Parts: sequence; structure tokens; C-alpha cells
Amino acid sequence: MIFQGKVNTLTYALGNNAHGKPMIYTDLSLQVDDLLRGQVDKTLPFEFRTIGGVYQDKTLEVKGMPDFSSDETFIVFLKKQGESYSLVRGEMGKISISGTRPTVTEKSKWNGLNPVVKYSINPNISYLSASNVEQSAKSSSLQWFSFGKANFAYSQSGTGDETSPRDVNTVNCSNVALSSGNAEIFFSENFDSDCTGNSCVFLWKCGNTIVQSDMQLNSVATRWTLLAPTDSSETNLQSELLHDFGHIAGIEHCKIGDTTSICSARLGGFWEDFKQTDAMYRFPSFKEKIAANDIQAIQILYGTLNLPFPSEGKYALNEEDIGDVIGQIEMEATVGANSVENRKQYGSYVANLVQYSQRRTGQNLRQQYDDFFDLAKRQTAGFSQEQLRFQLQYLNMGIYNGLKLKEDATKGYNTLDPTLLDYMLQKHLELRRSTIDGMGR
Ligand SMILES: [Zn+2]
Repeated sequence: MIFQGKVNTLTYALGNNAHGKPMIYTDLSLQVDDLLRGQVDKTLPFEFRTIGGVYQDKTLEVKGMPDFSSDETFIVFLKKQGESYSLVRGEMGKISISGTRPTVTEKSKWNGLNPVVKYSINPNISYLSASNVEQSAKSSSLQWFSFGKANFAYSQSGTGDETSPRDVNTVNCSNVALSSGNAEIFFSENFDSDCTGNSCVFLWKCGNTIVQSDMQLNSVATRWTLLAPTDSSETNLQSELLHDFGHIAGIEHCKIGDTTSICSARLGGFWEDFKQTDAMYRFPSFKEKIAANDIQAIQILYGTLNLPFPSEGKYALNEEDIGDVIGQIEMEATVGANSVENRKQYGSYVANLVQYSQRRTGQNLRQQYDDFFDLAKRQTAGFSQEQLRFQLQYLNMGIYNGLKLKEDATKGYNTLDPTLLDYMLQKHLELRRSTIDGMGR
């Protein structure tokens, strides 16, 4: 059935999903203005329930499914499933024609100065290998760290066993994690009216803070492939994951049929809508990497990191290197090393160490650094692959640490000489190059 209509009333309610778990729903009473296909009594309100809404202090948004606002006119595409209707192909099943959206003044994002979202994926799907599924998730999630350019990261926390989205009771707004969060990813192989598109991202929020997220990959709607899709019945898993990891981070895009004003209200003037070349483009498309607007969006949300690694060539960060850096960020987040107070304390510790070093040897610190790194470089030549890898990890983490100290110095959190910090970073980068040369990477 296809009709043009508008929302008469909109109310939020708790209801059980296909798995019998309580979720937040929006109950809509729609007015049918123009029936384009199918049979319905236009004189009666058309009652329809859709996923997402507000309950007490919790908000559920489901990316991949449409949302409705109270004064909107739209066209919907519905399909009867048993006794009730559900939207065809998720968010593609609704096209806005007119209406307004509340202006967004603050974007939703995860808490903390350097948020790390831990995710686990249930790789259980009959026709793909678990290791391929996990590798796709790893590659696409690491993209959002943008190779050290954005202050946000994902880290994989093992294999998950979820087979459905977590319910409203798993969200607790009075106890929001300060520096990280978690996400569960799973495949669904049975019809579920809460997710009729290729995939859905369940985003739980307390105010503007995202506190929990789940990703449902819908095997009923599409056939997942690790290769480029050959026709419209297939979807490349990694490109869908890449897009959905962007949603989990809090990035939104215009929806199909959005007018310019509806779209700018949705994006809140924070960023331009996405181009066809971006991973966050609103139509599904095959992409393995994020692009310029994606990077800008994640940086607007979480700030830039700008690690001093080259962005291309053999000395650029690879997935393993990124893992080292994210490991360091995660560790800092876990021990609370990111608070201003702790950064100041750490800065004064390093400053004391520098003074001590200089006093002990009576030597200029740069000279000590030169001598030490010359020796290290010479020794690197005799290292085994395992030792080289260990040294590389040490250097990747050290370079991140140096960058943070430099940032702290700019903010006045420490009294370290910025030119000395730059010099140390250069030395670390030099040794890192020798290490990578030694590894034959
Ligand atoms: Zn999307």
C-alpha cells in the first residue's frame, strides 16, 4: 500500500518487540489524503506503530528506519505482514514532502574527552566465515579513528552472542559511563518490523549523550557479501558496517526525500550533507573507506587528534599501529588519565623527570636523546621481527603520548618546552621509520 498522508497524533509507548523485549515505540494516527496504491478506508485514521521515541529520561533513535514529526506530510510505502503493516525497505519506505523539524542546537555524542566505544560482534551467519565477518568489522570501525586524525575510536572487545537489540531496561540514565560505551552487532535472519531495511542502528540516548548502541544486520532484506555487490539483492558487509559505525558515533545524514529545510534542521548546521563519495551518503553504496565529509563530521563531534604520522606510504599507520594507539587511549580512559587534573599531574611528573635527567648527567637533554636514539637505531638492525614489532608498538604509543603532552603544553597544563617535545617526537618518528624498514613492511 502506498499513500500520501499526514500525522494527526503521535504518542510514545513501551511495547514488546519481536523477541518479547520492551522497546520504545511511536504510535501514529495518520490521515490518509491520497491513496496511491492498495485498499484503505480514507475516512478512518490509519493507526501505525513505529520503532523509536522517548520514555522517561531515555530516547531511542533507530537509524535505518524513518522517524515522523507531528506536522509532517509524507508518502509511505507499506507492506502487510500478518495482521499489521510495516514499512518497506526501512527508511526508504517514507518520503517527506513538507513539514518542519525541531532545530538541532547540540549534536548527540558519546561522553568523554577521548571516547572509545567498545563493540562486540556476533559473527554468526550461515554463509560467511566468522573470521571474515570480524575482519570486516575491524577494518570498518578503525576507519572512524581516521588514522589518528579524529578524537574518537572503536575497539573490538571480543565475540558477542546477542541476536537481538538490547531493550529499554538495559539503559540507565542515572549511571552514564564517563569515557566509553559499548555496542553490540548481530545478524537477524527472521522478519522483524522494527528493522525492515538492510540494517538498523539502535541508538540509546540520555539527553544528548549516547549511552548504548546496537547494530542489526538484516539478512532478510539483503544477502551480505564480502565482495563488491553484483546486483541490488546483495550488500557489501564492510561498506554497510562502515556507514553504521558512523551512525553509532552520532553522525546523521539527510533522509531520502528531505527538503533542504528539513535536512538542515536535521543536521543542525553542524555539517554539510554527505556526497556520493562519502560513507555517510544517504543511499546505500559500496565504499570501503571514509572520505572528506565523513572525517569532518567525526572531527566536529569529537575534535581532531592530528597524530604526526604520515598519512600515506609505508610509514603511515596500518591497522595494527592504530590498534596500538587506540590501546593507549583506552588505557588512559580506563584509569581516568584524561581529566584536566590528571593531565596536569602527569605533565609535572614528566617535567621533573626531564630536570632530573639533566641534573644527573650534567648533560644537555637533546645530546642525551641524540646518543640514545643513535644507539637504538643501530641496535634495531639486529632485532628479530618480534622485537621490532614490540619496539614499533612502544613507539606508536610514545608518539601519541608526546602529542598529548604537546597539546597539554598549549593549554597550559604543563611547563614543558614545546620545542623539546617536538624534538622528542621527531626522534621517535625517526626510530619508527628505521623499525619499519627493519620489518621490511
Ligand atoms: Zn544511514
